[in-house]
Amino acid sequence: MDFKCKNMEGCPMYDYLTTSVRIIQLQPFLNEYCLNSNNYNRCARYKIIENGNEPPSNLLPNGDTLKN
Ligand code: SF4
Repeated sequence: MDFKCKNMEGCPMYDYLTTSVRIIQLQPFLNEYCLNSNNYNRCARYKIIENGNEPPSNLLPNGDTLKN
């Protein structure tokens, strides 16, 4: 079965990454983190969630902030 981060459902950044008009710019994050069984746990959002906290909705997996 293809790997998917367990936080995908309800992850605002995942929703954004898959629906944004900037999907071509953002698609690499999906492949690098959300769908990558070797790297998903390096996602900045994932780490915060694992610590029991809620990441800011505009936090990108690489730790950058998504700007409008
Ligand atoms: S890897 Fe990060 S951005 Fe992707 S679904 Fe999981 S928590 Fe969200």
